Amino acid sequence: MDLGIAGKWALVCAASKGLGKGCAQALVREGAHVVITARGVEALEATAAELRQAHPAAVVIAVAGDITTVEGRAAALAACPQVDILVNNAGGPPPGDFRQWDREAWIKALDANMLAPIELMKATVDAMAERGFGRVVNITSGAVKAPIDTLGLSNGARSGLTGFVAGVARQPRLASRNVTINNLLPGTFDTDRLTGGFRAGAAASGQSVEEIAERRRRTVPAGRFGTPAEFGDFCAFLCSRQAGYLTGQNLLLDGGAYPGTF
Ligand code: NAP
Repeated sequence: MDLGIAGKWALVCAASKGLGKGCAQALVREGAHVVITARGVEALEATAAELRQAHPAAVVIAVAGDITTVEGRAAALAACPQVDILVNNAGGPPPGDFRQWDREAWIKALDANMLAPIELMKATVDAMAERGFGRVVNITSGAVKAPIDTLGLSNGARSGLTGFVAGVARQPRLASRNVTINNLLPGTFDTDRLTGGFRAGAAASGQSVEEIAERRRRTVPAGRFGTPAEFGDFCAFLCSRQAGYLTGQNLLLDGGAYPGTF
């Protein structure tokens, strides 16, 4: 299927590794040009080089910076000639107990997982509407649908974004101009973040990393973790010409882990 996005410009935030990188890979494969961001320059440049090598016709621009800051967002936007596709992403907040989190911890989580995506939408969606095409995909978390007790900062901040998107996606001035805004909710995907969590769990419990990973794997009916590539492919479809009638939705990719009917 031709997704109809060849030549479009995509800003993919937090994309040197993991799910963001998977999205950038899929969009570039479909013929889009991309601006990718991350804080660490080395991994970012390596990913940019990988994308260019795989798809020499694509323009790939790497912008190092923290997307949760005003400066980081300004640099990313300045590098992108126009934003037709926006993939919002940033690192997730740390786990813990809400009794330990002060205002600063909450503001940091809100900045990363709620306000940064809202600011980037604010900067881009009206121009998308004027051009008659726009796709926004926010990478959130399965924890929005099935909250994880120790991830309260994530549950709270991402739920705020989810509520905001439910309203703004339905604005006729966006929806009627072929601008869609959807949230992609990862379950358990095989990324550095996941393996880092397993390593921390192993260090704290004395179990091996593989034992912890296996216990987690057993919670997924698919019997495996998702891959960044399949996450990216799904994201690319959400950004396609064909997905123009899908907006304001929360799409869970979790190998069947969520046990509910809806
Ligand atoms: P990952 O493998 O650790 O990759 C994170 C990427 O984001 C890296 O490229 C990182 O590069 C970049 N990044 C982090 N903070 C950034 C910032 N402030 N500004 C710019 N770039 C930033 O993580 P992942 O597993 O792909 O997770 C992506 C998001 O999905 C996270 O919010 C995570 O909580 C959420 N999620 C993941 C899973 C899962 O199973 N993997 C499940 C649910 C939710 P730098 O560190 O160099 O900046």
